[in-house]
Amino acid sequence: MTSHDSKKIVEIHEHLHSDLPSDPALRVKALESLLVEQGMIDSAAIDAWIDLYAEEIGPKRGAHVVAKAWIDPSFRARLLADGTAAISELGYQGHATGHVIAVENTPAVHNLVVCTLCSCYPFTLLGISPGWYRLQEYRSRAVRDPRGVLQEFGVMIGDDVEIRVWDSTAELRYLVLPLRPEGSDGLGEEALAQLVTRNSMIGTDVLQPIARGR
Ligand code: FE
Repeated sequence: MTSHDSKKIVEIHEHLHSDLPSDPALRVKALESLLVEQGMIDSAAIDAWIDLYAEEIGPKRGAHVVAKAWIDPSFRARLLADGTAAISELGYQGHATGHVIAVENTPAVHNLVVCTLCSCYPFTLLGISPGWYRLQEYRSRAVRDPRGVLQEFGVMIGDDVEIRVWDSTAELRYLVLPLRPEGSDGLGEEALAQLVTRNSMIGTDVLQPIARGR
């Protein structure tokens, strides 16, 4: 059973600050062990939560939103006008979908998402954020040198294409609507969703043309 005894929480907080190792992975492990020991969480529940976000939600919900926008122009218009409302039409709601703005890539504009302050991310659409998204290097360089950062991801954006960088916050999270891959005409929503990569919805990937006849 979970208890929220505030005095106990304060004690744990003080204990953590006195004993925490500096390495983040060790720190997480120490935090988890302590919370388990205090009976405040259950390791199996944490594992189930991680599995849910990594495997079930993963980027699959975001890919569904993108594929639907590609094949349904009226959904696409609603998504761009009010991301939160359009996404809730698909049954996806929750903490991090309560304030989503969809930004559309076009031949003239490429969008890139970052959280310069910490690691705000639309996790109820994209699952757990990738490690690089949380790194200080990405968070600072994405703003200063987005073209250079994209090159390191293997994404070459022409000089004639404007790069717009969006800074996520706890109040606003962004979903990039990538350009639909060439050669994907005629594919249905499910097949299209399979083509959408997580990084393309953050802006660090562009979707490659697919071979015709496949
Ligand atoms: Fe953040």
